[in-house]
Amino acid sequence: MPQHIIIAGGGSAGWMAAALFARLRPAPLTRITLVESDAIGTIGVGEATVPILQDFNRLLGVHEPEFVAATQGSFKLGIEFVDWGHLGNRHFHGFGDFGAPIEGTAPHHHWHRLRTAGREQDPIDAWSMPAILARQDRFAPPEASRGEAAEYRYAYHFDAGLYACLLRSYAQSRGVAHMEGRIVDVERDPHSGDVAALRLDGDRRLDGDIFIDCTGFASRLLGAELGVALVDWSGWLPANRAIAQGSARAGRFTPFTRSTALTAGWQWRIPLQHRTGNGLVYSSRYLSDDEAAHILTSNLDGDAIGEPRLLRFTTGRREQFWAHNVIAIGLAAGFMEPLESTSLQLVQTGLARLAELLPHGRVAPPIRTEYNRETIAEYERIRDFLIAHYCISQRPEPFWRDSANMALPDTLTHKLALWDAMGRVPMYDLESHAEPSWAAILLGQGRIPQGHDPAADRMSLESMAALVAARRDTLQAAAARLPQHDHFVRRTCHAQAA
Ligand SMILES: Cc1cc2nc3c(=O)[nH]c(=O)nc-3n(C[C@H](O)[C@H](O)[C@H](O)COP(=O)(O)OP(=O)(O)OC[C@H]3O[C@@H](n4cnc5c(N)ncnc54)[C@H](O)[C@@H]3O)c2cc1C
Repeated sequence: MPQHIIIAGGGSAGWMAAALFARLRPAPLTRITLVESDAIGTIGVGEATVPILQDFNRLLGVHEPEFVAATQGSFKLGIEFVDWGHLGNRHFHGFGDFGAPIEGTAPHHHWHRLRTAGREQDPIDAWSMPAILARQDRFAPPEASRGEAAEYRYAYHFDAGLYACLLRSYAQSRGVAHMEGRIVDVERDPHSGDVAALRLDGDRRLDGDIFIDCTGFASRLLGAELGVALVDWSGWLPANRAIAQGSARAGRFTPFTRSTALTAGWQWRIPLQHRTGNGLVYSSRYLSDDEAAHILTSNLDGDAIGEPRLLRFTTGRREQFWAHNVIAIGLAAGFMEPLESTSLQLVQTGLARLAELLPHGRVAPPIRTEYNRETIAEYERIRDFLIAHYCISQRPEPFWRDSANMALPDTLTHKLALWDAMGRVPMYDLESHAEPSWAAILLGQGRIPQGHDPAADRMSLESMAALVAARRDTLQAAAARLPQHDHFVRRTCHAQAA
């Protein structure tokens, strides 16, 4: 008998699950059915990504130019942070290091040494190829022939609804069955407690072996039915609201997301081909919804499109992600604010882990335990990275002062302490963000360590300064030869008018 996988929910998470399993577990070994409710709808945001989405598309065989054109997409070299450390502070978290290690030591240690000796006046961004490209609105994919000027990765911005459509036709053309309907009840096996079938409106029944819960914040199967609680992290990440608003394309067509810190939260700006995506993430303890909507609309750089949408959320993760025969993916599994575009990343890594661990037959309990162990670690590592953005800020407003004064998770306390002492970031199991990402945020906000790796002192200061200057010239010259982001998109993946 083929294993029947039921995917509950047809947002980005549901259709990513359907496409991946259609690709990796084709019939006749597996049957896949996705059920979604038009009346409930999807969250419809989630437009900035991280580079691993390239791997996802490649695995499906979705080609980049068609994908970008079909989703009105653009390219993303990283995130520009404005006013985060303090008003007037501007720094870039690029997808790449600040150059290759020099004599085996990470570049930011050399930067620290030169700066301490008064031989480096520029921020560390000046050493980063993605940051150099971003400042000039240039983009082309890295090519090995460009040597050290090709040491970066990139991701995408896209219209979430259009990406779901693309994945839906991919999945359906590979045999995924689709049902429209609301899950009104859940049948459980009286002996094992496993989910046996979903009851849909219209007196329909859908039985299956494995249930992937992609029902968004409702967490209809894992949370509501199996009673797996949410571990609430809003004490560390207090934002609990977002207002999203599209606007007409205007201003720069940037190959990066911009995140601008405000009095009680931050605002995103995501350039797409047919519009700009904007949103304000904030805490309702410090800012009313009306004030937030007013701030957002007055900060748009083009005319507003449609009505603003208010979204409420609680930051946290489910106590377990896999219980009985139900695995939650996407918002049903947990949510952390979109500051580093990690939600779709977690959808993708969750699905990859599930595809590796899910047997064709009975699920042995250690498999679930391992899935939960790895996923919890991954969520906690991202949580710490996001908290770091807030707790090191010098901004004076109550929202920021409270973030700076809160008690941190022990894992983050240790990270910051080692950083302060010698500019190293201890790496735990299942880190999503490597040391250069931490260095970008910490140095970018002005958290300068007291020391650096002594190995960086081996070369003479003169030789080091000369090496770094030559490298910067190489990067600047290479950047000047690359096209403007807008030209690159028009030439390679221009979308039809919306
Ligand atoms: C403000 C905000 C900004 C974000 N920005 C980003 C970003 O830039 N980058 C990023 O990676 N992520 C971002 N995210 C997260 C991203 O939007 C989600 O991870 C992604 O859209 C996946 O959502 P989902 O599919 O889990 O849920 P949803 O889109 O909510 O889909 C839920 C599905 O379940 C169905 N459903 C629910 N209940 C039932 C029921 N009883 N019966 C039948 N069907 C049901 C619904 O109809 C729907 O099809 C953001 C999230 C928010 C809130």
